[in-house]
Amino acid sequence: MLENIEKYAKEYNIPIMQKEGIEFLTDFIKKNNIKKILEIGTAIGYSAIKMALVNEDVEIVSIERDYERYKEAVKNIKLLNLENRIKLINQDAFNVELDEKFDLIFIDAAKAQSIKFFNKFERNLNYNKYIITDNIKFHGLVGSDEKMSRNLKQLVRKISDYIDFLKNNDKYITTFYDIGDGISISIKR
Ligand code: SAM
Repeated sequence: MLENIEKYAKEYNIPIMQKEGIEFLTDFIKKNNIKKILEIGTAIGYSAIKMALVNEDVEIVSIERDYERYKEAVKNIKLLNLENRIKLINQDAFNVELDEKFDLIFIDAAKAQSIKFFNKFERNLNYNKYIITDNIKFHGLVGSDEKMSRNLKQLVRKISDYIDFLKNNDKYITTFYDIGDGISISIKR
């Protein structure tokens, strides 16, 4: 089933987490006994499903703005009988207000907006818990002087700004990992 989702993502060009990255993330969830997760950026449900399969106590709320991807995620989650543990919200994350608190907030949506996602949802994070962000290296382009289009350059600059934002944020301790496409883990002090 998971192979089918990976195949679908490849065929329709849907960016899902790289194998190395998702293994690192699910290991982290297991080791730290994480139960409640908020994901920004469901796509077709691949990472949400992988996280939910870590163990039966894991509960996830995941937000996706694209209706077609959301529908595909609903289908995939149903096929795995995980609909009672993965709640999907089909909205732009910036329009979603949540009262719940989470042990992990996983930011994997529009890469130029990570600072805004972080600032919006950090109030939903439990004390001493984690915000994880994927694609910190953005295909190796962050920190490189490769020739790029203007738009891409802008996007890469925004990711660099996010890295600086994390490094300078005294409320969190952030570690950067050279895994998959680059992952950061910020722990709330
Ligand atoms: N986490 C998924 C996985 O590994 O299986 C991949 C997510 S994909 C990299 C990013 C997704 O975030 C896209 O499907 C995109 O439509 C969604 N997205 C981008 N900005 C968003 C926003 N403001 N609110 C909700 N979803 C957003």
